Amino acid sequence: MPEGDTVWHTAANLREALVGRALTRCDIRVPRYSTTDLTGLVVDEVISRGKHLFIRVGPASIHSHLKMDGSWRVGRARPSRAGHRIRIILEAGSGSDWVQAAGVDLGVLEVLDRVHDEDVVAHLGPDLLGDDWDPRTAAANLGADPDRPLADALLDQRVMAGVGNVYCNELCFVTGHRPTAPVKAVSDPLRMVQRARDMLWLNRSRWDRCTTGDTRPGQRLWVYGRAGQPCRRCGTAIESDGSGDRIRFWCPVCQT
Ligand SMILES: [Zn+2]
Repeated sequence: MPEGDTVWHTAANLREALVGRALTRCDIRVPRYSTTDLTGLVVDEVISRGKHLFIRVGPASIHSHLKMDGSWRVGRARPSRAGHRIRIILEAGSGSDWVQAAGVDLGVLEVLDRVHDEDVVAHLGPDLLGDDWDPRTAAANLGADPDRPLADALLDQRVMAGVGNVYCNELCFVTGHRPTAPVKAVSDPLRMVQRARDMLWLNRSRWDRCTTGDTRPGQRLWVYGRAGQPCRRCGTAIESDGSGDRIRFWCPVCQT
């Protein structure tokens, strides 16, 4: 599931492939932008803001959001499968210098006026992986509604930007709180948001997300996706509730 770290890593890949190069192909398979052609224009920068991506090309900014299943595939080989799921193809260079970036199953894809592109992320709280990360503001945002369930607040991108459902569940575990506990149960909101930052920061350059410090397969996460399996701390079976991007996992003993 794409979270802030995935988006940060994706932006780094796109940046390496495209920045400073003129597009030789721009194929946007969204009806509204099907006639938009940025071919010949140079990609100036690629940035991430929380879970949002911006590819700035000339006067335009290609804004995308991966949502549940989206990805950007960057490389020197054309994606053989997934053809019908591709929403956009950007290419640069030729011969051995050729590179392609294909956006697959993107939840949001739009072409914005570059000057105003960040209007669509103006509502976001401090970006956990941004240069301007501000833990005090994030902590104040987190504590603003004391009776709100903790998981809801952690997932609210207006509180801080970048936490998705995996980190939400893992943060609740490492801080010893049930996902349904009220925010006011968190005695040190500043420490909580700093732990969120640490988790995403450690994972920003790898695809196999790890919160336990043990990167072996099957050992990487504390509770997420582990319903019925023994808690890594106390051995009690992990419980779960909900579905999709709202599924919660917790240890009934370690989390109160
Ligand atoms: Zn436990």
